[in-house]
Amino acid sequence: MDIQKIREDFPILHQQINGRPLVYLDNAATSQKPLQVLEASANYYRNINSNIHRGVHKLAQSATAAHEQARETIAKHLNASRPEEVIFTSGTTDSINLVANVLERSGTIGEGDEILISGLEHHSNTVPWQMLCEATGATLKVIPVLEDGSLDQEAFATLLGPQTKVLSVNQVSNALGTINPVKDMIAAARKVGDVITVVDGAQSIPHMAIDVQDLDCDFFAFSGHKVFAPTGVGILFGKYDLLEKLPPWKGGGEMIRLVTFEKTTYNDPPFKYEAGTPNIEGGIALAAALDYANAIGMDNIYAQEKLLLDRATAGLSEIDGVKIYGTCPNKASVLSFLIEGIHHFDLGSIMDQMGVAVRTGHHCCQPLMSRFGITGTVRASFAVYNTEEEVDAFIAAVKKGAMMLS
Ligand code: PMP
Repeated sequence: MDIQKIREDFPILHQQINGRPLVYLDNAATSQKPLQVLEASANYYRNINSNIHRGVHKLAQSATAAHEQARETIAKHLNASRPEEVIFTSGTTDSINLVANVLERSGTIGEGDEILISGLEHHSNTVPWQMLCEATGATLKVIPVLEDGSLDQEAFATLLGPQTKVLSVNQVSNALGTINPVKDMIAAARKVGDVITVVDGAQSIPHMAIDVQDLDCDFFAFSGHKVFAPTGVGILFGKYDLLEKLPPWKGGGEMIRLVTFEKTTYNDPPFKYEAGTPNIEGGIALAAALDYANAIGMDNIYAQEKLLLDRATAGLSEIDGVKIYGTCPNKASVLSFLIEGIHHFDLGSIMDQMGVAVRTGHHCCQPLMSRFGITGTVRASFAVYNTEEEVDAFIAAVKKGAMMLS
């Protein structure tokens, strides 16, 4: 793979920060965008910008066709069985809130029921479920996290039961990089009964091929901006029969079939869940982003990121006082760590002075930080356009920061 050639596609990478070449290692927060995606966005506004679905005129028809073509590309990328299983949302947070709210509105969840999440979840896969519990009297249960950052599968087996109504877990942890065995966990949930299974794919979508039929999940949520696409667009995959059965959440234009003041009837999925004008350009750009990732190859992306992760892990392990959080072998390209006696924010700030962009803090996973008795970590996260030289610059910046601060 020619990484330099890939880097040419990302104009933002070719700049100096604080007089040093930018080393962008904050990819788990958001990815950078290649020219192919920027062009798809610009092309939409330059040539076909128009509202979709209701227009008789040519531009409206072109925008509608591009929007629905994007849905097909995304469905194919996820191996959904039909494009109608792909709902456009504004991101992972919006997608998970959609599921929690339609479950509430449908009356599916009640007192005595349990919602099972894990201790590795982002706040956006925690708070919507707490809100659902508050509204329905259901109870939130949490699969514990082991010392190496993996989920306690034995505890999971005992937590699962006939009272479990929802299982919602991430496929990859944004804070530690742990890859969770979601396929096995979903299969285990199916054995105990009628469990709605939700996968938070925000951090798996950029790093690995996704097959929702193989996972057998009921819902799969992700954000475009984590996978080379713009912010403000995301996806909720849902199995069609469930989407047909469940009620809508937001009301407005597009989600209706017939409106009278006495009664409104709803459109078919996915439109039933897509009230209002969507982020049309974002959806088109997301399809371009997935085309871009597939042209490189998801397996190639995974392999390159693994190389970077292994190199960074080895380099970091040699530095005195470093503690890595998330040491299980099955990890995607996230590296979270602390240095004894040094605050994560101070280290991150010095690294920024050296042009190295990392994230510090709790990564929207406060319960997980509490589990480890810390307030946050320094997190480096890699993308396919990162190089081994950048990993070395990262290690050098950590060493320098540690020297200056200790
Ligand atoms: N889940 C995970 C695992 C994430 O990493 C993120 C983003 N950090 C989210 C959910 C929320 O994504 P968004 O803010 O794009 O809705």
